[in-house]
Amino acid sequence: GPALLFVKTSQGKEEGRRFYACSACRDRKDCNFFQWEDEKVSETRLAAREEYNRSHQPFFTHRQNVDRYKNFILLPLSKRRFCQECQQLLLPAEWEKHSDHQFLCDITPAQLKSPSQLLYPLENKKTNAQYLFADRSCQFLLNLLIDLGFRRVLSVGTPRLHEMIQSKASQEEFNVRSLLLDIDFRYSQFYTEDEFCHYNMFNHHFFGGEAARETCRKFLNEENGERVIMVTDPPFGGLVEALASSFKKLMAMWRETEKEGHDNREMPMFWIFPYFFESRILDFFPSFSMMDYQVDYDNHALYKHGKTGRRQSPVRIFTNLTPSMIVLPEEEGYRFCTVCQRYVSSGNQHCEICNSCTSKDGRRWKHCVLCKKCVKPSWFHCNNCNCCTLEKHSCEKTDTGCFVCGKAGHKRSTCPSLSHT
Ligand code: SAH
Ligand code: ZN
Ligand code: ZN
Ligand code: ZN
Ligand code: ZN
Repeated sequence: GPALLFVKTSQGKEEGRRFYACSACRDRKDCNFFQWEDEKVSETRLAAREEYNRSHQPFFTHRQNVDRYKNFILLPLSKRRFCQECQQLLLPAEWEKHSDHQFLCDITPAQLKSPSQLLYPLENKKTNAQYLFADRSCQFLLNLLIDLGFRRVLSVGTPRLHEMIQSKASQEEFNVRSLLLDIDFRYSQFYTEDEFCHYNMFNHHFFGGEAARETCRKFLNEENGERVIMVTDPPFGGLVEALASSFKKLMAMWRETEKEGHDNREMPMFWIFPYFFESRILDFFPSFSMMDYQVDYDNHALYKHGKTGRRQSPVRIFTNLTPSMIVLPEEEGYRFCTVCQRYVSSGNQHCEICNSCTSKDGRRWKHCVLCKKCVKPSWFHCNNCNCCTLEKHSCEKTDTGCFVCGKAGHKRSTCPSLSHT
């Protein structure tokens, strides 16, 4: 889909030069598209680009993949193979072509119901950054939104939540539905066009064109009183402004489905993202608040739920629902603060001066009278920098704030919020 317009700024200069680059790939190695805003592009280069795009399309279309799936499930177990190298379900006629590839055999119905287990997570690539929910967190999210009365989930970049809903819906009496929007086209092998749209959340592009857009629009139309919530868990390296702009477009889609109009209501949303992006998210969505719940992942060793000494997950739920409605499990160490009217981590003490439960990471924070706010327990007030910071730091100030947290005094590479990555 469309590129994004970026600006290169050099220190001290007001205006930088503007250029277009790929919206989805944050690594030039994954996609090297680059064009100055004012650049003239020759006919030959345009033609070369089109040719490149044509030759880099997926081998099968979504429709073809759906038909293949229908044939696949008719096969006896012994003929059901999945090529691990091509990440593809194979029909017997294709075995030959993949003969020197690693494959799995006897693919069971259970495996087909959990593609996120079958497919390998695209975690090395900055582009996809697939971090899958631990079962506990996924189950928590699902129970939470059911308890809140939602019956439809727009799953944007949350394949594992989608698959949990899909597989429950096929088994028991379970009346929740989900539509998955994701850039990972491998999922088109397992879901129909009504269950999955190939989508880019950095530029709101539906690869399936108007038909896919219509599928999404229909899904957001709350018939029979089935309320919709959007749940998204974007790659953490993603640009918040690009994501916010797409999410606003999805919200607008929801608003337009209602003939009466939803007055001034917003589509309910859970945006799952690290806590140090709080101020960035709130810049774009002032109605959102951050919950203390720590979201855990399967394939992210550093982000596992902390017992003693282990690092805790920095990932939180941002939502435009009333915080007091988001009930967090006491057995996992959350309690209700009656003053703040929300559930907080048990270590998160209510600060009388700030008049709120101020900890962001679950540990007990301390109030600094000079900074007039609560800070991390490991920080101290530096009179040179005139703010609280790590004890070990160099007092040299950088003009521009840190790229990650926006604070002055350090660069992105040494940002305290990212010290574990
Ligand atoms: N925790 C989630 C997965 C989050 S990982 C779960 O378990 O369900 C981020 C997800 O966003 C991946 O599924 C990835 O494929 C998807 N993604 C990455 N870049 C994207 C983009 N530009 N547009 C849409 N989805 C994207
Ligand atoms: Zn409180
Ligand atoms: Zn305080
Ligand atoms: Zn201070
Ligand atoms: Zn200092």
